[in-house]
Amino acid sequence: MTRRRWIADTWNESTASLTGEQAAHLIRVLRAQPGTEYDIVAGDRVWHAVIAGISGDAVRFNLIAEVEADPALPVTLLLSVFKFDRMEWAIEKATELGVERIIPMVARRSEKHLVQSAEKRVERWRRIAREAAQQSRRSDVPQIEDVVPLKTAARQATEAVRLLLAEQERSTTLRHAVEEALRNAGEEMPAIRMAVGPEGGWTAEEEALFDAEGWKAVSLGPRILRAETAAMTATAVVSALLE
Ligand code: SAH
Repeated sequence: MTRRRWIADTWNESTASLTGEQAAHLIRVLRAQPGTEYDIVAGDRVWHAVIAGISGDAVRFNLIAEVEADPALPVTLLLSVFKFDRMEWAIEKATELGVERIIPMVARRSEKHLVQSAEKRVERWRRIAREAAQQSRRSDVPQIEDVVPLKTAARQATEAVRLLLAEQERSTTLRHAVEEALRNAGEEMPAIRMAVGPEGGWTAEEEALFDAEGWKAVSLGPRILRAETAAMTATAVVSALLE
């Protein structure tokens, strides 16, 4: 039986506490009592914990023993800013699928009004990732970075396997590229970065820039997927090949 898992708001080496809406849910909805056992994520570690006390809207746990944490996939997703509701859906699905980092990126065809308000949405995206991590019992929360220009993102992490999800690409599939990366990586898993374009797709200049920076264009098949579909599908393919 897998215990329900909560992400601690505060902790030390022997206790952890939930406060705010998480604690309120635990107290009022789940009617938690001292002695009830849960898994608590404190820092990047998962603990088998038991409620030690409830005071006001804080629930305090004693940490009993560390639970084997399931590491995130060494996958970073670069998401060009696109329609926020769809982008937030992509963030939630990528989190469920185990990505370790999401970098929102400004592409040429990212809609201007979305780019202007993207900065202010990052905190909301972080909350969405945290809630999705909790729901999917992840032992960690993916890092949602601040919005960066495409040029900056394209130049980062030169040591990683960097794959450009390109709707026009026909010769190399994502699966082929990841299988090759696995062969080259030996026993440890390769760090993989994947870039997804906006609804309007990549411009020729952007594809040339990624190419010049050493990114490999890969295809998810002959059909044109929505950006959020591509993000989820690519993460699922990589997850299936890496796990
Ligand atoms: N408007 C463009 C498609 C953009 S889809 C057109 O109609 O051609 C948004 C992003 O999803 C693309 O930039 C790409 O990163 C990804 N994508 C969509 N379909 C894909 C496919 N078949 N293979 C690889 N990436 C794809």
